[in-house]
Amino acid sequence: MKTKVISITEETEDSDKIYQEASEIIKQGGLVAFPTETVYGLGANGLEEKAAAKIYAAKGRPSDNPLILHIAEVSQLNKIVKTIPEAAKKMIETYWPGPLTIIFEKADCVPYGTTGGLETVAVRMPDHKIARRLIQESGVPIAAPSANLSGRPSPTKASHVAEDLYGKIDLILDGGSVGIGLESTIVDVTTVPPMILRPGYITQEMLTELLGEEVAFDPALYDHSSDKRPKAPGMKYRHYAPKAELIVVEGPSYKVIETIGTLAAEQEAKGKKVGIIATEEYQSGYHSGLIEIIGTREKEETIAQNLYHILREFDKNQVDVIYSEGFSKENFGQAIMNRLVKAAGNKVIKLPDKTEIEK
Ligand code: AMP
Ligand code: MG
Repeated sequence: MKTKVISITEETEDSDKIYQEASEIIKQGGLVAFPTETVYGLGANGLEEKAAAKIYAAKGRPSDNPLILHIAEVSQLNKIVKTIPEAAKKMIETYWPGPLTIIFEKADCVPYGTTGGLETVAVRMPDHKIARRLIQESGVPIAAPSANLSGRPSPTKASHVAEDLYGKIDLILDGGSVGIGLESTIVDVTTVPPMILRPGYITQEMLTELLGEEVAFDPALYDHSSDKRPKAPGMKYRHYAPKAELIVVEGPSYKVIETIGTLAAEQEAKGKKVGIIATEEYQSGYHSGLIEIIGTREKEETIAQNLYHILREFDKNQVDVIYSEGFSKENFGQAIMNRLVKAAGNKVIKLPDKTEIEK
């Protein structure tokens, strides 16, 4: 298949023609990759089982991993869900359009081929002009997982989409780099209390404050030891992973720097190519390996924005092993660490601080 790539911004003249071409592909059951504020999505008509099946084929995605339906107007929601619980109404009012996916009971028109056989459906209204206009002109909810090969880091630029899917999809709308860089928060409102199935930019604190009541966390997200199944089926798969082995090193700053330095030197002595994911604050402490600066601890948004790009850069440089600093798990940091630890296949070295040793 020939993949067309079209660059588009809000200023693009004659953009009507581009949206017409892209929405025609969706209406005909084809695949269009497009930017959202979180990551690039791989879109197809979410109400057509055959179209959704093409997403699974292009990504190599397991068929029990359900898709998120993207809408442009709240009026589209009424058609694809059975009921809208009160908690969801509040979330929609405050956080849509935005990086929040809500799980509802599905209406009959949503095929099981989109929901991975579930009676529930995940819905999001993206806060991105290109995404919204594409959905509007297509006239259907667009099913869109991240536009990467299954298991690989999600795409935050059109070039990442091309790396994974060129020749497998009809069109890539290149709208530049995305803003947030991590996938949406997923919250299930079919349960009481509502439950976060995947952390993201919208945090548990933000949702609890909004509702004035408890919002739970899927316990399986952090309990790697048991065989509990995550409630979002996709979370059970290895995800976001670079080709190299990735190890996260957590603890007090001086120990993290020292440990990563020692491990990197050991690996290099064995002839391995080493990558280091460093923050601006710690970078001067490393003297070996290929060092990539992910951002600053002062602004966790910078870390989220660069994570997937850096993992892909290390792949291009054919690095054998990557050591990453660990980051704060407060607020948005929880989502960053969730993706990083998953990308590492749960390989984390936890260094105790002095006070913990003395206890
Ligand atoms: P992505 O592939 O990055 O778009 O991720 C979509 C995520 O949403 C996966 O982890 C899915 O398992 C999850 N998801 C989609 N629909 C549902 C649903 N009905 N119930 C629970 N999780 C869902
Ligand atoms: Mg994905």
